[in-house]
Amino acid sequence: MSLLDTESIRRDFPVLKRNVTGGQPLIYLDNAASTQRPQAVIDAMDECYLHYYSNVHRGIHTLSEESTRAYESARETTREFLNAASAREVIFAAGTTAAINTVARSWGDANVSAGDVILLLISEHHANIIPWHQLAARTGCRVEFIPIDENFEISDETVAEYLERFRPKMFAFAAASNTLGSEYPVQRWTSMAKQYGATVLIDAAQAAPHHQIDVQQWDADFVVFSGHKVCGPTGIGVLYGKEAMLDAMPAFLGGGGMILNVTTEGFTTHELPEKFEAGTPPIVEAIGLAAALKYLTAIGMENIHAHERILGARTDAGLREIDGVRVIGPTADKKGGINSFVIEGVHAHDVSQFLDGRGVAVRAGHHCTMPLHQAIGVTATARASCYLYNTTEEVDQLLAAVADVRAKFA
Ligand code: PLP
Repeated sequence: MSLLDTESIRRDFPVLKRNVTGGQPLIYLDNAASTQRPQAVIDAMDECYLHYYSNVHRGIHTLSEESTRAYESARETTREFLNAASAREVIFAAGTTAAINTVARSWGDANVSAGDVILLLISEHHANIIPWHQLAARTGCRVEFIPIDENFEISDETVAEYLERFRPKMFAFAAASNTLGSEYPVQRWTSMAKQYGATVLIDAAQAAPHHQIDVQQWDADFVVFSGHKVCGPTGIGVLYGKEAMLDAMPAFLGGGGMILNVTTEGFTTHELPEKFEAGTPPIVEAIGLAAALKYLTAIGMENIHAHERILGARTDAGLREIDGVRVIGPTADKKGGINSFVIEGVHAHDVSQFLDGRGVAVRAGHHCTMPLHQAIGVTATARASCYLYNTTEEVDQLLAAVADVRAKFA
């Protein structure tokens, strides 16, 4: 495991040159919320708007053909990134939230009935909870949660026990927790769930940015992630679905682009992937996403993962050494670059504000994981999350600032 050449990588990210509070250099450790963009992504989007932007698919003119080619080529880049078997399995959505809602509405309404169970982890992001609560309200199904243990972990035995007890129709879980930082064994748990006949959805919002994903190896039915967390634009995400699953599902949103024929009596839907892309799609965002995926792939997803694990472990170890600080998450060997923590006697918002005064950007609050916070018995945590452009010096400055918070408020 070694660190990346951050000096060179940081030159690719214009925003990292700026100063913040009191002229201090920005130390951006809020990457689990959203990442920054390299120049290559900004250029790819500019290039489209400046030279060949048009709506896609429907035009028979030069710009529309060029935009359509770039949009479909972005789909192919995304297919390669995920190692999906076919580009027909790659649907562009507005983000992880929109993708999960699509599955809950389309697959859920068609396949789930009263008494069925949707099984989640207690650590899920609200994006992977609310759509299932809404499905429960529509169908009478139940949402059940697998708890974490006192070390913030979930064992295979616990997963097996809950699968056996509930025999869920759907097992939906994040490959990595945005609060605990835990990285879960996706392939193993998916295979266990399949033995019980469950459909499996993987929320890869905190996995796709950080390590290699192979959807065929994972074998989950659905895998979703967001563009803005992989150095791409906002407003785009990906819904991967196995072709047979997507083919069997009814279209969710209706409108232009997703139809083959419309009459006053009804309509017939287009085939995949257009069936799930009603309306003008996020064209320029898809082009930006492809540029981001190419950028990360060129650096190497496993190199990025190794870099973050080193920084994450340094953060974890440093935080645990500070008196009054409690790390909310498992030991460093079980997580990536996310570290959430609480400081005895200091509210997370005050921690974040104090750190901002040192130029350090972290997030404070419940990180859209309220049930997890309720289970742990804390209302809010501060969260430092690193990415490929962060350095050991930045981690050390974070740790020094956290120690000062403790000294100032204790
Ligand atoms: N799932 C996880 C694990 C996340 O971390 C996030 C964002 O923080 C989401 C889902 C929601 O992503 P988006 O807001 O891009 O739809």
